Amino acid sequence: MSKVPIAVAYGDGIGPEIMSACLHILTEAGAQIEPHVIEIGEKIYLQGHTAGITSEAIDVIHKTRVFYKAPITTPQGGGFKSLNVTTRKLFNLFANVRPCVSYHPFIETKYPGLDVVIVRENEEDLYAGIEHQQTPEVYQVLKLITRPGTERIIRYAFEYARAYNRKKVTCMTKDNIMKLTDGLFHKVFDEIGAEYPEIEKEHWIIDIGTAKLADTPEQFDVVVTLNLYGDILSDMVAQIAGSVGLAGSANIGPKIAMFEAIHGSAPRRAGQNLANPSGLLHAGIMMLVHIGQPEVAERVHNAWLRTIEEGHHTYDIFREGISREKVGTKEFAQAVVRNLGKQPEQLRAVRYTQEGGPAKVIAIPPYERNKRPQKDLIGVDVFVEWTPGHPKDLAERIQAVLPPSLKLTMISNRGTAVWPNTVEETFLVDHWRTRLLTREGTPIRHEDVIAALQGYQRAGLDFIKTEHLYRFDGVEGFSKGQGE
Ligand code: NAD
Repeated sequence: MSKVPIAVAYGDGIGPEIMSACLHILTEAGAQIEPHVIEIGEKIYLQGHTAGITSEAIDVIHKTRVFYKAPITTPQGGGFKSLNVTTRKLFNLFANVRPCVSYHPFIETKYPGLDVVIVRENEEDLYAGIEHQQTPEVYQVLKLITRPGTERIIRYAFEYARAYNRKKVTCMTKDNIMKLTDGLFHKVFDEIGAEYPEIEKEHWIIDIGTAKLADTPEQFDVVVTLNLYGDILSDMVAQIAGSVGLAGSANIGPKIAMFEAIHGSAPRRAGQNLANPSGLLHAGIMMLVHIGQPEVAERVHNAWLRTIEEGHHTYDIFREGISREKVGTKEFAQAVVRNLGKQPEQLRAVRYTQEGGPAKVIAIPPYERNKRPQKDLIGVDVFVEWTPGHPKDLAERIQAVLPPSLKLTMISNRGTAVWPNTVEETFLVDHWRTRLLTREGTPIRHEDVIAALQGYQRAGLDFIKTEHLYRFDGVEGFSKGQGE
C-alpha cells in the first residue's frame, strides 16, 4: 500500500510530546502515512498571522486533505482569531464528531455505561460571528441556520449511526422557543430520519436533554445538535466519561478532514513528559479509519484498551488502588506499542474491519435545491433607537407618517410585545421593534418599505435596522412577538 500523505502540526504546550508519542504508536502499528509537518499556533500568531496559520500551511492541508493536529495555544489579548473556527470554515469541515466512552473500572467515572457520540454542526448557528452593537444599550448576534447545512449534518449523523452499528440518534434543539431556526433543525431531523427506519429516533429539548444526558448517559447513543449546544454538550460528556485527556474528535468536510484531541495545549504540563496522549491517539484512530486503514486503527485501539486495563496510567487518570503504575507520555506510548496485536481482556474490543465496524466511508450526497417557493413581501420590522418612553407615544409618531399600504401592528421591546397592549411592569431599553404589515393582506413592494423609512426619517425616528417579513408559499417566515 502506498503511504497516504497527511498534514501534521505538532502544536504548542504539550502538543509536540503527545504528537511524537502518537506518530510513534501509529507507525509501529503499521500505519501507511507520510507526515508533512506544518507550523501553526502561537509562534505563527506572534509573527503577525492573525489566524495562527500561514498560506503555505493552508496549501499543504489542501493538498493532503487530511490534517492531524495537536493542540495549540492562542495568545492572550485581542486581535487573534480562533484557528479552529478558521480551519473549520476554510475547509468546510461541517461535522464535528466526538465519541466519548467510559472505561470502567479502569478509569474512575460515575458513569460506567457511557458510550455516546456527539455529532455537532460545526459551521453555522451563532458561530457565524455576525455581531453588532445597535444602540448604546443593545448588542446582537445573528444565529443563522440553513437548510443545506442542517440536512448535511443530520444525514451525517444517521449515516454515522448506520456505519458504526449504532441503534439510536437523538436530536437536541430549543425549538419550543426558536421555532424557525431550531424548528428547522428538528423538522429536517424528522424528514431525514424517516429514511432510516432501522434506527431509533428521538428529540429532546436541549435543557432537559442535557440534564438527562448528564444523569443517565447510558440511555444515549448518537446525539446530533446545533453548533453552540454541541460545543457545550461535547465537553460535558467527555469530562464525565473520565478525563478531557481521553477523547479525540474528527472535523469532517466533503473533501478535507481534521483530527485532533478535544483538550488544549495544557501549557503548565508542557515539556515534562506528563501529558496523556490518548485524546490525540483516538483522533489518530479516527483518521486511520477515514483514510481506509481500519485494520491498523483496530490494532492501535485494542492495544490502547489493553494498556488502560493493565493500569499504565498518566497522572490525569492515575488512581491509587486502580492504576498499576504512573507513567509519562513516552512510557505510555511504549506500553501501547508493546501491546500491539493484543486484545483487551475485560473492556470490549473494537472492530473497525468486520461486521459491526464501519460498513463504508460516510458520503453525503450533494445538496439538491428544491423548487424555489413563492416569496411574498408582506411587511417589515423597523428597529429604532428611542429613549425609553411610553410605547403609545412611539406608535402615534409612526402612525402619522406611514404610507397607505402599511399599518403598524405591534411594537416590541427585547422581543416582548408592548403595544397595542402595554403592561406597565415590562422593562424597557432603548431598542424598539416596530412591526409594519400590509394593510390589505396583499404583497407590498420595496418602494413601500422605502416610503415607510422616509416617514420615520421625517418623524425624527432613528431607524437602526430592518428585517423584511415574507410569506414563503403562503407560510409566514417570521415569529410573533412574545405576548402578541
Ligand atoms: P486545556 O485543555 O489545555 O487544559 C485543561 C486541564 O486539563 C488542565 O488542567 C490540563 O493540565 C489538563 N489536560 C489537558 N490535556 C491534558 C492531557 N493530554 N493530559 C493530561 N492533562 C491534560 O485547557 P486550557 O488550560 O483552558 O487551555 C490552554 C490553552 O489551550 C489555551 O491557550 C487555549 O486557547 C488552548 N486550547 C486549544 C485547543 C485546540 O488547539 N484545539 C482547544 C482548547 C484549548
